[in-house]
Amino acid sequence: MAKGQINVQTENIFPIIKQFLYSDQEIFLRELVSNATDATQKLKTLSNIGEVKGDIGETQMEVKVDEKAKTLTFSDRGIGMTEEEVDKYINQIAFSGAEEFLEKYKDKASVIGHFGLGFYSSFMVADKVEIFSKSYKEGSKAVKWECDGSPNFTLEEDDTRKERGTDIVLHISDDSKEYLGEHKIKELLDKYCKFMAVPIKFGTKEINDPEHEPKTTKDKDGKETKEDHRQITVDNIINNPEPAWTKMPADLSEEDYKNFYRELYPMNFEESLFHIHLNVDYPFNLTGILYFPKLKKNLEVQKDKIQLYSNQVFVTDSVEGIVPDFLTLLHGVIDSPDIPLNVSRSYLQADGNVKKISNYISKKVADKLEELFKKDRKAFESKWDDIKIFIEYGILSDEKFAKKAEKFMLYKNVDGEYFTADEYKTKIEVNQTDKNSKVVYLYSSDKDLQYSYIDAAKSKGYDVLLMDSPLTAHLVGKLEQADSNTTFTRVDGDTIDKLIQKDEEITSKLTEEDQNTLKPVFEEVVNKDTFTVNFVSLAETDAPMTVTQAEFMRRMKDMSAMGGGGMMGMGNMPDMYNLSVNSNHPLISKILGEKDEAKKKDMAKQAADLALLSQNLLKGEELSKFIKRSVSLI
Ligand code: ADP
Repeated sequence: MAKGQINVQTENIFPIIKQFLYSDQEIFLRELVSNATDATQKLKTLSNIGEVKGDIGETQMEVKVDEKAKTLTFSDRGIGMTEEEVDKYINQIAFSGAEEFLEKYKDKASVIGHFGLGFYSSFMVADKVEIFSKSYKEGSKAVKWECDGSPNFTLEEDDTRKERGTDIVLHISDDSKEYLGEHKIKELLDKYCKFMAVPIKFGTKEINDPEHEPKTTKDKDGKETKEDHRQITVDNIINNPEPAWTKMPADLSEEDYKNFYRELYPMNFEESLFHIHLNVDYPFNLTGILYFPKLKKNLEVQKDKIQLYSNQVFVTDSVEGIVPDFLTLLHGVIDSPDIPLNVSRSYLQADGNVKKISNYISKKVADKLEELFKKDRKAFESKWDDIKIFIEYGILSDEKFAKKAEKFMLYKNVDGEYFTADEYKTKIEVNQTDKNSKVVYLYSSDKDLQYSYIDAAKSKGYDVLLMDSPLTAHLVGKLEQADSNTTFTRVDGDTIDKLIQKDEEITSKLTEEDQNTLKPVFEEVVNKDTFTVNFVSLAETDAPMTVTQAEFMRRMKDMSAMGGGGMMGMGNMPDMYNLSVNSNHPLISKILGEKDEAKKKDMAKQAADLALLSQNLLKGEELSKFIKRSVSLI
């Protein structure tokens, strides 16, 4: 028997492992299962090249819980290890040094999924670990290695393991008893090993025997009874070793993609809108399938996320930095052995390969969207409301994507018609160009709330877009930047006629003196800090008074509410509005002509309140007074 000390410079590495990785203990399971998977795949490769002779037999691995013995065992039928190999791989190589280990895992939280921590992570939950192994090599003797969590180990010949392969036996420590629960292990296998490349057995299950013809028996009266199906006990395989993303797109049907979506998120009962199959092997290796989900408008806290795998081993479901930000709301999987997994996130973001991967994904998504738009525009339009938030976010955050999106970004107007950017500009250019030759895009953020404004704009022959996403304020700024000949105005942003000056300008019926007389009358009936009274010459048929909010002011407030653009604190800025008085409206002339001061004030107040009401600005006491006043007027 060999005794020895594991080659570490500090006396005892195990307390350090426990302490460092306490919060992420459970990954030991992934590490041990993936070691077993690797050993099995190595064996298959050796068999394929004729290095291992004869039939290799069953290659599935098994995870076993023994609550009584307090052990958790990982058994595989892989290549196994000889005594020399255990000494080399477990005793020496796996631990080149505690200092190096500490250096590597210093910044614990930032190491993605603690990938590659390996075999020794078992000491996070076990106070003794045994390895029983027999190498595939002809004539090799089975061995046993044992270590109790101190740097001392034993290594000896031992014939417990009769056939090729390895058993790793964890004697679970008292403070990790949860890992003796079948439920817990099932849950972890499901999380980390769902798509590992070798079948994993965990217990057995009863199924109806599909081969078995139910027997019919006759009793003595000749009455026939048909047997139920015969129940048989089979291995319970918890994983799918050949998930859809590992196959070629040509070999998969629509149904296969749908089924895989369900397999990935069993608790999500919605279907996805469409998918993108990623598959590259140069200059980096990456496969995966991304799904566009139906997004809820409020972008509720996301529970289904993109999962990152490395050769079918689950790494993490926080893919920030690897997938472009605007696509992190997608669903699906990405599998790449080329993403460095044991580095910190900040390092990851600077990694050249990772940048390329991120760009590739963004490009693939843009290409797919363009293809969908070209192939079936109607279908694309019908999905627009669900996908626009991705596209808007992409346009705002990724220049290359923005450029590509020019081809498929759609404008939707309040009547539900869709236009490409070019189509829309052509449509409104003639009618909606202002005196500075800028094309004015009118938009509404809420069809119901801004109904009267939309109505007024339409009656003048203008078209109004529906732009109701939380990103609108940012987006219109970006679109204006991209084309300096355009300007966006919310439909209640300013009196429309002031924006789009027509040749036949309407002259004001009120003289300047009239306006000077009226201004204080209106100023008296509204809050002067919030409303600025001004006069506009509109048609007699337009509203007598309208409340508008300057476009730039509202945009700034919207943006700061979204927390964007270094405008913290802007959210507390008071709202400011224009109260525009239509100098040509008969009611305004009537107010001007009224001799009774009290009555004059009442009329002005009533007219102003009506304007406020249509912007949903009349509330509380003011609203209640308005209603009383209206009743008495009737
Ligand atoms: P890593 O897997 O990152 O190389 P580990 O500490 O997990 O590091 O394992 C060290 C080595 O021990 C492996 O590279 C492999 O050679 C050997 N090994 C571990 N588990 C098994 C197993 N179940 N069967 C065969 N060899 C194994």
